[in-house]
Amino acid sequence: MIIDCHGHYTTAPSGLQTFRAAQLADADALPSPFDVAVSDDEIRASLEAAQLRLSRERGTDLTIFSPRASAMGHHLGTEATGTAWARACNDLIARVCELYPDNFVGVAQLPQVAGGDLAASIAEMERCVNELGFVGINLNPDPSGGHWTALPLTDRFWYPLYEKMCEFDVPAMIHVSASCNANFHATGAHYLNADTTAFMQFVQGDLFADFPSLRFVIPHGGGAVPYHWGRFRGLAQDLGRPTLEEGVLGNVFFDTCVYHRPGIALLLDVVPHDNVLFGSEMVGAVRGVDPRTGHNYDDTKRYLDALDLDVVSRAKIFSGNALRVYPRIARRLAPAAASAGA
Ligand SMILES: [Zn+2]
Repeated sequence: MIIDCHGHYTTAPSGLQTFRAAQLADADALPSPFDVAVSDDEIRASLEAAQLRLSRERGTDLTIFSPRASAMGHHLGTEATGTAWARACNDLIARVCELYPDNFVGVAQLPQVAGGDLAASIAEMERCVNELGFVGINLNPDPSGGHWTALPLTDRFWYPLYEKMCEFDVPAMIHVSASCNANFHATGAHYLNADTTAFMQFVQGDLFADFPSLRFVIPHGGGAVPYHWGRFRGLAQDLGRPTLEEGVLGNVFFDTCVYHRPGIALLLDVVPHDNVLFGSEMVGAVRGVDPRTGHNYDDTKRYLDALDLDVVSRAKIFSGNALRVYPRIARRLAPAAASAGA
């Protein structure tokens, strides 16, 4: 079995965006998430033509699926609009998982608010895990959308959320949303900045001493982290911090959303294979075909296949690590499928 740990519903039917536009146009009206006008046929069409077709073509099986990250928009609207928006997006993911239980498992969008507390986010996580069967959450370290007004991820501000994550045994993918700071292109800079920033915060903080079972996936191959691994090792040393292996790697994982073979080769040369999860972020940030290869940039399985990985590493990266980091996946799969390996 091959698990893609990083997919968003970027092709959601237009009824979802109509709902969002209405609530942002008039916060007082606050349309109900139950009013999202999307039919099952529209959901099927939106996936069959895109994620499901590509998944079948590329030979992947199960996608850990969350709402479109760039549309989370935690810097927009009020806590009430954000809560209704997260609920609408998560309910749609739940319908996808119901329609295609062998192809998708859900991950929740949280109704974070720049400057707000985490009560609504904790409540929505609880609903998504307990009622919708979701296996993880996306956590935005910068709800301000590129202005970085939130406290570092290691600050006690975040602890109530982490306590619930540990209680539910769900990991978080660190994932920012759109950038409203013109200095940072969303997917080209803001995303990668956040990945790199989160890792350095984990190096600096004592978070995992307080939460030994807390788990984070840093997407997009870890941003600049693998390329600058020596810098982070050296900084940890200079700052009197534990080694990266002792201080961070028991709790932090990277996906393979690096859109060329040399980048994935570097990732796997530097980061232990226990800490890498196959991911493509398909259909997502980069949708084109690389003229040098004739294949989509985001066809990351192709780069991994070209690396001639040994059987053990391949099994870990393509499914074993995902099942370990997201233990609730195994509970959703038939026992036979869960033990089938890669
Ligand atoms: Zn993403």
